[in-house]
Amino acid sequence: MTTSLPVFERLTVIGCGLIGSSVVRAARAYKAAGHITVADISQTVLDRVAELGIADAVEADFGKAVAEADLIIFATPVLAVADVMASIAPHLKAGATVSDVGSVKGSVSEAMQAAAPAGVHIIPGHPIAGTEQSGPDAGFAELFKDRWTILTPIAARHDDAYALAVARLASFWRALGAQVEQMDERHHDLVLAVTSHLPHLIAYNIVGTAADLEEVTQAEVMKYSAGGFRDFTRIAASDPTMWRDIFVANREAVLEILGRFTEDLQALSRAIRWGEADKLHELFSRTREIRRGVIALGQESPEPNFGRDRGKH
Ligand code: NAP
Repeated sequence: MTTSLPVFERLTVIGCGLIGSSVVRAARAYKAAGHITVADISQTVLDRVAELGIADAVEADFGKAVAEADLIIFATPVLAVADVMASIAPHLKAGATVSDVGSVKGSVSEAMQAAAPAGVHIIPGHPIAGTEQSGPDAGFAELFKDRWTILTPIAARHDDAYALAVARLASFWRALGAQVEQMDERHHDLVLAVTSHLPHLIAYNIVGTAADLEEVTQAEVMKYSAGGFRDFTRIAASDPTMWRDIFVANREAVLEILGRFTEDLQALSRAIRWGEADKLHELFSRTREIRRGVIALGQESPEPNFGRDRGKH
């Protein structure tokens, strides 16, 4: 499907941190939206967005911010979505599309639908792209390039107008450089529990454990961190509010995957205890192949140590 630009005449992004400001920057850079308004709960964020000059308008009043918008994207922490949706619902234009970028889809989609007026299209979304940084200064236009954005359309909507709105939103994300996939929301939450939520939980846990170990000083933990720990500290530096919300909002899927992970960890612990070297080697060979697969799909740099050592002696 060829798309003429801008894909949406008027875009409003609510919540302008890392992801929101990246959407805003990309939408302007790739001409995916004609006019861009930013709304945020924080006046400091709004002042900074105005200073950066990345949007056409900033607005503290959410109702005013969405009144003329064709596409509204929530980029707040996921537990804020229900309140934001309730506050903008009476102000939405008929035919508008309301989407989000939240890392959890089932409960967020429910919250969006609960307050949605008839005549607007709710299409939850999630770009699988990000960094451990937060705030409007951290965003950049290329964040979504060659990354996947998953849309989880409402299963009960079968009408043509909705299908058209989904296709249009997919075109918007493609204009931002992303590849787009559609998925059932529950399946999304299970997949992300494995690929993102559990790894973050493990990182938070291992960094917490290391910090609490009495036999190893904090200075040693930091000094010798290149042995693998450093990569966990990057993940464990991710925004505390955002991740608190993700674990609360995706409790079921995370607990299901965590149960499976704990069983596998027990099996690994037995293999170490009983000196089952072949078992360990077989697992480590399989996991190395997965890493190669991630690189082959263009989702990671093939350079050793993520290319960190380039230019160093
Ligand atoms: P962020 O940098 O902390 O930005 C969130 C912004 O939303 C902040 O400006 C925050 O203001 C504002 N906000 C908080 N509550 C609000 C409310 N009730 N109404 C309006 N604005 C509100 O976070 P982020 O990393 O961009 O994450 C935003 C969303 O993207 C989350 O749902 C997350 O799950 C999703 N996501 C994140 C990543 C990632 O790697 N970071 C990747 C994909 C998807 P304050 O600063 O005042 O709190």
